[in-house]
Amino acid sequence: MTLKPTVLVAEDESALVTLLRYNLEREGYRVLEAVDGEEALLVAAEERPDLIVLDWMLPQLSGIEVCRRLRGRQETRNVPIIMLTARGEETDRIRGLDTGADDYITKPFSMTELLARLRAVMRRIRPGLADDIVRIGDIEMDRGAHRVRRGGHDIHLGPTEFKLLDHLIQHPGRVFSREQLLDAVWGSDVYVEARTVDVHVGRLRKALNIENSRDPIRTVRSAGYALDDEFATA
Ligand code: CA
Repeated sequence: MTLKPTVLVAEDESALVTLLRYNLEREGYRVLEAVDGEEALLVAAEERPDLIVLDWMLPQLSGIEVCRRLRGRQETRNVPIIMLTARGEETDRIRGLDTGADDYITKPFSMTELLARLRAVMRRIRPGLADDIVRIGDIEMDRGAHRVRRGGHDIHLGPTEFKLLDHLIQHPGRVFSREQLLDAVWGSDVYVEARTVDVHVGRLRKALNIENSRDPIRTVRSAGYALDDEFATA
């Protein structure tokens, strides 16, 4: 299962949006657009992009305000944000503000530069995206061979548990609702009850948690599940 990473471009200059879309799609990203701050918040909440390219100067709500609000909401708290800023004093000012952006890039910028920053962020947040073998904490997942090992032991997973783990590993720290996991793992056209997710997460946990090892999956009350951030960076 390879999911295209989704990037939300929040920018009101349509020529720049067109250019960004062209280059991002060519790099294999799925692109969403928002032309003002309010729309950026709405799209981010509904579509849960993997990354947001956010212009500082946006109508309705400034990029800074959008950034603050995204950080204030559980479902978008961890989404990486690359802020586009104007040249000059604003850049210094914005860097001094604690907006919560992960990176800044000053206009005018080259596409090569932006794409390099994006790749760096994507490698950090979705380490497993392109590689067949992914290691997170003491878990090793071999997509090609469909094998999972933990601390040197083979872990036997059913196909659904394998896909679940794969999905969580691609987004360490991000909380997924049961509905989102259903869409990602079972597909949105299949009718499965939400509590089926609990059953499979339970099986995945049981298989992974050998010899009192640390539970890599975090249950977030009334929200869903996530691969534990701290586990991923341990
Ligand atoms: Ca703008």
